[in-house]
Amino acid sequence: MLAIDGGKPVRVKEKFLVFGAPCIGQEEIDEVVDSMKKRWIGTGPKVALFEEEFRKMKGRKHAIAVNSCTAALHLSMLAIGIRPGDEIITTPMTFCATVNAIIHAGGIPVLADCKRDSFNIDPSEVEKKIGPRTKGILVVHFAGRPCDMDEIMDLARRYDLFVVEDCAHAIETSYKGVDAGCFGDVGCFSFYVTKNITTGEGGIIVTDNDKIAERVKMLALHGMSKDAWGRFSDEGYKHYEVIHAGFKYNMMDIQAAIGLHQLKKIEKFRARRKEIWQIYNDSFRDLPVFLPPDPQRNTEHSYHLYTPLIDTERLGKTRDWVLHALTMENIGVGVHYLPVHYHSFYKKTFGLKKGDFPNAEWVGDRTLSLPLSGCLSDRDVEDVIVAFRKVLGRN
Ligand SMILES: *Cc1c(COP(=O)(O)O)cnc(C)c1O
Repeated sequence: MLAIDGGKPVRVKEKFLVFGAPCIGQEEIDEVVDSMKKRWIGTGPKVALFEEEFRKMKGRKHAIAVNSCTAALHLSMLAIGIRPGDEIITTPMTFCATVNAIIHAGGIPVLADCKRDSFNIDPSEVEKKIGPRTKGILVVHFAGRPCDMDEIMDLARRYDLFVVEDCAHAIETSYKGVDAGCFGDVGCFSFYVTKNITTGEGGIIVTDNDKIAERVKMLALHGMSKDAWGRFSDEGYKHYEVIHAGFKYNMMDIQAAIGLHQLKKIEKFRARRKEIWQIYNDSFRDLPVFLPPDPQRNTEHSYHLYTPLIDTERLGKTRDWVLHALTMENIGVGVHYLPVHYHSFYKKTFGLKKGDFPNAEWVGDRTLSLPLSGCLSDRDVEDVIVAFRKVLGRN
């Protein structure tokens, strides 16, 4: 297959650079094998250890591992006590799972536009959307750049709202010395394949609130109550009691086995992504793109995604053309994200339309994500740079 200009692609087809390939070492492989040999592959000691390590790392009272961040978000919504018709304010510049979690819990997602520079929810837009049915704010630290948490927490205090943080991009993120996931009532993290660390599929919930933690644990495992065990019998066989129609959201030891070793590599992976992010920024200054701004003072960015915005007016081509051209160069790319209200379901269900969130649309029409992972080689990075410059007409 030829490149879009009819010439040879920057990488050969066989070496297609997969977007977001995970970094898996021998330690992870050995730990999984260990679980299998011990034949404890379901929820067991490794999940407990993983939860404890993560809890200590974040300095929160509770950490509950689940099988995805989507599950974590869903349980968080239920645990804060959402009732049918309650409104949760969130951003249109996010993955659909953020919004679906609200809907599955019986709530109504109310979108508040993002900012053009940070892609993060704009606190002044949030305030405009607060009404009598507003129950909470669900923020997303986009690409690992923290939201304006002073302003968000101030709104939460003034209007008595819950705050849940979608930290799927943000394990390493902090704002004025406080880690992402430690501001709100609940923080939800993802260990999906493309995230900063992975367990294959997986997620975790952190909170300081005992009631929320207890509810999350109960709902994550069929709605079974642990207390009931004691009620039926003190010793010997223990019955469980189902006190709610719960879910099957528990993490397995096989997943935690991977995660235990990934936890130790968080800083190493981040340092490499930060380095690549900087090399990209330095290599693209003359291109018709808007580069991601440097992290704000007093914050730590996790460098989860590298998201230049295509200056489509200056280039005279669409973002989708650029996506296509890069794919033909055998460079894997992503889009984070088409705004939530571009999707037919949310349009139909919530009466949303183009024009409702001008900043999310401005970003969503121009953004693309280049490969950024802790295990990209120098050669991979060089190929991305050559391909991106070529496609944008600056060899
Ligand atoms: C990946 C992602 C999720 C969902 O995470 P899973 O672990 O795949 O369920 C939620 N929100 C955002 C912003 C994400 O990027």
